[in-house]
Amino acid sequence: MSITPVTAAAAAEGQWVTEWAPLGKCAGSDPDALFVQGKAQRAAKIVCKGCPVVAECLADALDNRTEFGVWGGMTERERRALLRRRPDVRSWTALLSTAKARGSEGAIA
Ligand code: SF4
Repeated sequence: MSITPVTAAAAAEGQWVTEWAPLGKCAGSDPDALFVQGKAQRAAKIVCKGCPVVAECLADALDNRTEFGVWGGMTERERRALLRRRPDVRSWTALLSTAKARGSEGAIA
């Protein structure tokens, strides 16, 4: 998937992007590094710090109930806990895109 300059600029400006995967900090790195298990996920998720599409990545994983690996700066365990804490959320994409627009997505999790 190619990255258009418009998409990259939008992500850099903090706008929500639907084609987020190629913009992730982990793009181009070994995908297996994010599919470690247990405590190793806490170390692996460091790559997500400062990722311009962390909210998009997390929303995708939560909406799709992605079970395995590190997504959106969260371990499997952290995502399961978040889903248990927030059973009211029908669309994480809607919630996190609104929060990102307000600059408050970090307050959700
Ligand atoms: S949040 Fe983490 S897993 Fe998701 S795209 Fe960014 S670096 Fe990759």
